[in-house]
Amino acid sequence: MIKPSVEKNVRISNLIDIRKLTNSAFVLRFEKHDLSFTAGQHIALGIPDIIDTREYSIYSAENDEAMEVLIKEVEEGFMSPKFGKLVVGQKVKVMKPVGYFTINKDYLQSKRFVFIASGTGIAPFHSIIKSYPDINYSILHGIRTSEEAYERNEYTAGKYIACTSRDKNGDFHGRVTDYLQQNSIDTQAIYYLCGNYEMIDEAYGILEKAGVKPENLKAEVYF
Ligand SMILES: Cc1cc2nc3c(=O)[nH]c(=O)nc-3n(C[C@H](O)[C@H](O)[C@H](O)COP(=O)(O)OP(=O)(O)OC[C@H]3O[C@@H](n4cnc5c(N)ncnc54)[C@H](O)[C@@H]3O)c2cc1C
Repeated sequence: MIKPSVEKNVRISNLIDIRKLTNSAFVLRFEKHDLSFTAGQHIALGIPDIIDTREYSIYSAENDEAMEVLIKEVEEGFMSPKFGKLVVGQKVKVMKPVGYFTINKDYLQSKRFVFIASGTGIAPFHSIIKSYPDINYSILHGIRTSEEAYERNEYTAGKYIACTSRDKNGDFHGRVTDYLQQNSIDTQAIYYLCGNYEMIDEAYGILEKAGVKPENLKAEVYF
């Protein structure tokens, strides 16, 4: 029997681990099967018997044995609270990785990368840095409080800057856009922006005005 073509792109994976990072954020680790990907790509993730899926950036590195995503439960959201209630051994539906929010391999050695994220928008950058630890990078992470600096010890000291808007326990008190306005901007770097639309729109405007060329500005909007 020929299976419907959509099934060719779906894998049913066992959940291997759930890492609680905060009261509302967690990392799901599940079987990867034969799904290869380029760091920066995302998957659609579902739960068997539920039609809806949601997109999540891949958090783990290209060569990890398993695949991980970083999810924050959205209050009143339909799927993210359901993912938060899963337990190890349950199954998830994983669609084939897609997306172009990736790094041009020709630039890995020669360019400086500035990764700008809000909240879980740090996920693709975690994957990129874990996959290519030798790249020249810095991360600006916009979060409300320092507890949302998800697994910051995974990044090289001094390269990760937590911009906290609601407490002073980060590296900079204020939003990432405040940081950009108060610090010099490297106009030769390549900028990747990921997270909520308002942050991306504002940061994009600041960077473009400072002289960063549009071809060196890449964005992935979550919501
Ligand atoms: C390419 C892509 C990659 C994504 N990667 C991630 C990821 O790595 N981690 C992650 O947690 N989410 C990610 N998202 C968002 C994710 O797909 C879902 O939208 C999110 O989990 C909410 O789903 P839900 O079913 O719980 O809420 P829904 O019932 O679908 O929506 C409820 C409302 O919540 C809003 N919303 C969505 N995300 C957030 C948020 N983080 N904070 C506040 N409000 C929100 C929606 O705009 C909507 O208005 C990504 C989205 C896209 C398009």
